[in-house]
Amino acid sequence: MRSAKPHSGYQFDLSGGALCLDFANTVSHRHLPQRRAEHLDSYADLVAFAEQSKLLLPKLAASLRARSARNGAEAQSSFRKSIVLREGLYRAFSAIAAGKHARPEDVQQINDFALAALKHRKLTRTNGDYRWEWQSSKGDLLDRILWPIAESAADLLTSKERAAIRECGAPDCEWLFLDQSRNGSRRWCDMKSCGNRQKARRHYQRTHE
Ligand SMILES: [Zn+2]
Repeated sequence: MRSAKPHSGYQFDLSGGALCLDFANTVSHRHLPQRRAEHLDSYADLVAFAEQSKLLLPKLAASLRARSARNGAEAQSSFRKSIVLREGLYRAFSAIAAGKHARPEDVQQINDFALAALKHRKLTRTNGDYRWEWQSSKGDLLDRILWPIAESAADLLTSKERAAIRECGAPDCEWLFLDQSRNGSRRWCDMKSCGNRQKARRHYQRTHE
């Protein structure tokens, strides 16, 4: 099931400020064929992303791993759906970051994934508190990672925070983030990587002109 290039040790960068943006950022240099780095190569990578994003408790993550190992075709189908969702999220939110409208077909796709997710919402009472939980049956267990991501996308699209969606200022990066800085001045997905890289580049240009 796993590809020849396992990512078991990959630490996902969760600096997007919203789950759906972190998920869109699971590929690096999307549009640069030579440098493109895919961080989701298999269903197991999807489980790793979900675990690191705290979408799954370790016990549930273990059942998803076990089921996906037993049901290769089912895991492959969930995995493919996740990539379709991710690319649609990138298109919609990068258009918005550029001050444009998301394309109707990309909005429709978020709508469809979010509606599919909603069917699995259930109000429950635990220790005197009421809360929404995700309910899955065996047949749709592997899809459950996609539900909170789709919900996060629909929430972001319909919230005021939509105006704070940005695409990283490094020309080769294309990661998305929510600019939550007080004066709306955040330019880089991650200061440690892109921010410093861009600063160094500008310094180099200045000193070599
Ligand atoms: Zn960046």
